[in-house]
Amino acid sequence: MSTTQTSVVSSLRASVWRRWFVVPLRTLLSNSMIHAVRWTPIRIVNVFQATLAMALSRLFRRPIIWGVPPMLMIEPTNICNLKCPMCPSGNGSMTRPRGRLDRTAYQRLIDAVGHRLLQIQLWNQGEPFIHPRLVDFIRYAKARGIMVITSTNGHFIRTDEAARELIQSGLDQLIFSLDGTNPETYTRYRVGGNFQRVMDALTRIARIRREMRSPTPIIELQFLVFRHNQHEIDALIQFAEAIGVDRISFKSAQVYTQPQAQAYLPDDPRFNRYETGTTDVRIKGRLPNWCKRLWLNPVVNWDGTLSPCCFDKDADWAMGNVFREEQTFSEVWRGQAFQRFRWHILHRRAGIPMCRNCTEGLPQPYAYIVNLPR
Ligand code: SF4
Repeated sequence: MSTTQTSVVSSLRASVWRRWFVVPLRTLLSNSMIHAVRWTPIRIVNVFQATLAMALSRLFRRPIIWGVPPMLMIEPTNICNLKCPMCPSGNGSMTRPRGRLDRTAYQRLIDAVGHRLLQIQLWNQGEPFIHPRLVDFIRYAKARGIMVITSTNGHFIRTDEAARELIQSGLDQLIFSLDGTNPETYTRYRVGGNFQRVMDALTRIARIRREMRSPTPIIELQFLVFRHNQHEIDALIQFAEAIGVDRISFKSAQVYTQPQAQAYLPDDPRFNRYETGTTDVRIKGRLPNWCKRLWLNPVVNWDGTLSPCCFDKDADWAMGNVFREEQTFSEVWRGQAFQRFRWHILHRRAGIPMCRNCTEGLPQPYAYIVNLPR
């Protein structure tokens, strides 16, 4: 091999190493994560193992699994008080049973893998605050040094006492879904929602956090940009800054059909993840045979079924049940069903319908973050 060829090969290797290992690891270890996690040798080894296994799987196109995922999404409940038209929980199209996470099963899971986890996200389908034990779940994970994030539609933080209890739990980040700056635009999508109640909860949390001089939870507004609210972006930034929100994430919406696309998607192409002028719903860009969630961030549904990600709304791709005595979390995580699914993604992701309608791994962003001064 000539010197030029050798240097091309080694710079290619360096670029693959950077893109497939260094960048994902750096993204994973965000600033807030560094401060929110109690770092131990076991956690450090696990995050390196999981990320390296992911990079090697991508390189050799065969699934390699080491350690456990450093992040877990855990669903407190799939019951919701709202009727959002494109959400399977709200529009009634969800076919899996409704229920709430069992406290003992949750504690057993955290006891088994929590010492290796960096972060848990306490939500999936449904409204987490409907679960009466949500704050206990947060406390239990925080006591074990895990970063905890949850997400809410903002209808259940109704008193100062509830807000104080939540802040004292040690919650690291709280995401509020708010897709409007007035009752009309808000309820166009958040059907059954009460705009004033959400505003009250949001201002209450921000005020009490200030009174308690607590740096956490970081308050994030999540605004799905639709045709009917796209003109409110500037107003939302001003309003959020005034009440003490830390950041806003403007996200493009997921749709399933052309009529939904026509009814809801905005004109601004930055907030539309789909091709325009097609008869079906088609994500922009070429889907990579790849998905980092299968190595770093799967979902435990309320009943213990392990799904590859939050797009698996009905647990159609459940890989096993991590609450069953006869199967450990690691057995399901490394089991045949999950490995087969990973193999499929590494070879032909487009063959799985839910993975065709998913932005994971695409170069263009589907969320724009605006950080606000505190
Ligand atoms: S739907 Fe997306 S995130 Fe889920 S497994 Fe498929 S590619 Fe990954």
